[in-house]
Amino acid sequence: MKKTLLVLDLDETLLYATKEKLIQQEDFVVGAYNVYVRPNLDYFLSRVAQDFKLAIWSSADDAYVEELVGKIKPVAVDFEFIWGRSRTTKKRKSVTDEYYYVKRLSKVKRKGFLLESTLIIDDTAEKSMLNYGNAIQIAEFTGNANDDELLLLASYLEKFKNVENVRQIDKRNWRNQERSS
Ligand SMILES: [Mg+2]
Repeated sequence: MKKTLLVLDLDETLLYATKEKLIQQEDFVVGAYNVYVRPNLDYFLSRVAQDFKLAIWSSADDAYVEELVGKIKPVAVDFEFIWGRSRTTKKRKSVTDEYYYVKRLSKVKRKGFLLESTLIIDDTAEKSMLNYGNAIQIAEFTGNANDDELLLLASYLEKFKNVENVRQIDKRNWRNQERSS
């Protein structure tokens, strides 16, 4: 059985980077940004790395992504790839004319990963709307020091350790399932 690949978003998923200062001390600074790491990030990455392959895919600027990932990566954890905006697909909202970026998992497939064994974890549903069946949407993180989303997620992900096809598991309301279990 191949290990499932977790494709993790960065901003508001694993950390929060803002030009503002929050009440608590930032974890580090990158350029003009104060960066607040999501509680339990180190534990989360180290734990899931035992059972999954990991990758990072953010729609932020490539150089910013490289720099941030360098700061949060536990020494013993490796990422299959670290992708930024240049790997996303730009789309335009017809109503408001705004641009947004989507992550097409076909690009991950082209790299040799099976989509039956790939999960994409993001706080923004539209980023993975082309691969709905592979997506787990997590709550946005904007600096709440009591956030426990990564603990819940690590526990929920146990379900996906040795499954034939991750798309066969319904991921809606996963948080409620997990909280009540
Ligand atoms: Mg995000």
